Amino acid sequence: MSSPSIVWFRDDLRLADNPALRAAIDRGEPILAVYVLDEESPGIRPLGGAARWWLHHSLASLSERLRERGGALVLRRGPAARVIPQVVADTDAGAVFWNRRYGRPERDIDAELKTALRNDGVEVASFAGSLLHEPWTVTTGAGTHFSVFTPFWRACLSLPAPRLPLPEPREIDGIPSAPASDDLDDWALLPTRPDWAEGLRETWEPGEPAARRRLRSFLDEDLGSYDRARDEPSAGATSLLSPRLRWGEISPFTVWHEAVSTDGAGGFLSELGWREFAWHTLFHFPDLATKNLRPEFDAFPWPRLKPSHLDAWQRGETGVPLVDAGMRELWRTGYMHNRVRMVTASFLVKNLLIDWHRGEEWFWDTLVDADGANNPFNWQWVAGSGADAAPYFRIFNPELQAKKFDPKRLYISQWASDAPAEPIVDLGETRKAALAAYDVVKRAP
Ligand code: FAD
Repeated sequence: MSSPSIVWFRDDLRLADNPALRAAIDRGEPILAVYVLDEESPGIRPLGGAARWWLHHSLASLSERLRERGGALVLRRGPAARVIPQVVADTDAGAVFWNRRYGRPERDIDAELKTALRNDGVEVASFAGSLLHEPWTVTTGAGTHFSVFTPFWRACLSLPAPRLPLPEPREIDGIPSAPASDDLDDWALLPTRPDWAEGLRETWEPGEPAARRRLRSFLDEDLGSYDRARDEPSAGATSLLSPRLRWGEISPFTVWHEAVSTDGAGGFLSELGWREFAWHTLFHFPDLATKNLRPEFDAFPWPRLKPSHLDAWQRGETGVPLVDAGMRELWRTGYMHNRVRMVTASFLVKNLLIDWHRGEEWFWDTLVDADGANNPFNWQWVAGSGADAAPYFRIFNPELQAKKFDPKRLYISQWASDAPAEPIVDLGETRKAALAAYDVVKRAP
């Protein structure tokens, strides 16, 4: 009698460098892959619209790749604490493997499941697959976690090099009769009425093969100009790997080892370092999306929200060309260049004086790379409420940013040639108001 192994896929929708899948293969028993759409467990943040679109396509791709190799992906919806034991019972599985997650609610679910399954005599093992260094392995001399990026990254670089990526399995010994699976289409992850995803379809190809091709072409063609051109939104100089890393279609270990041998990769690799730093921060500060990292920021006197201002920002109709271009790129493609993310976020918080949470929520809903750590971490960085954040009083001037990083207005004319010409607020006046509000935070006890 065989006792199958279950591989529970989460934010690691890939076959290559997947330690949980590798453990199942090494166990030598038939394998079943499972994905659970868990929108019910307490604390789990529901996915945004663009993320749901990506997930649909990435799952379709994973399912096909598993099938080609002899495996199968079973889709189930519901709280993981109920669904996983159910699949174990349906298949008489003897083992469950997964790669670790680092948000608090996810960790709680996984820890409880581990105990419950082990109590039932099921083997359970979890692995490091999504971060180069797990949060508890990078500490200061005093044993605490880092709150400033530079020493954090220096400490990471002084650790043993990240492990080598695991090869992609050619064959998977799937269980002979897989239990019933939901139909992916029934999950309704894709928008229908209206179907706003045309720009996403034009821009992206989700799935592991496309992620690998993107990494290759970035390393061959763009990495050489990365340090020079990464801040120019029209240059196409960055990797566009963020949604692929977000969904785990490619592992940071693969990216690291393929990039590290290339001359001049240090700047690019340190961006992976920011990703690590954001996730470590979330691990140590699980309420990153809801609470200010610096509590004195709670005293910030946000004025009453002007819905028309928020609306103009979301639609890219602020009359500030770089801001409008960015917000329109986001709406159309589910992505925005990093420099422009900083400028649009700064404009929302420091010129419109709108609480950073409203911006974080909009990005959460519209970004294909919307990430439980990177998104709130960067919003707090821009707002000035984060740990190693841009000081609040440093206010981006969107016009100077455009002159510096889009001097020929290529990006602006691509996305916002027909945007309103008059800014909805006076940049100088609002800057003064923001600084006055910041004084309140400074004086807070
Ligand atoms: P590259 O420049 O090629 O960087 C390589 C990888 O490093 C990225 O794919 C990403 O995984 C990581 N990275 C780069 N910059 C950062 C950063 N500042 N913080 C953390 N990781 C980084 N990134 C997300 O992945 N998800 C988000 O939800 C997200 N929200 C953001 C919100 C705001 C307000 C800001 C200012 C930035 C946000 N970022 C987010 C970070 C950054 O803008 C994107 O990771 C980057 O633009 C993705 O493009 P790329 O893959 O071409 O980046």
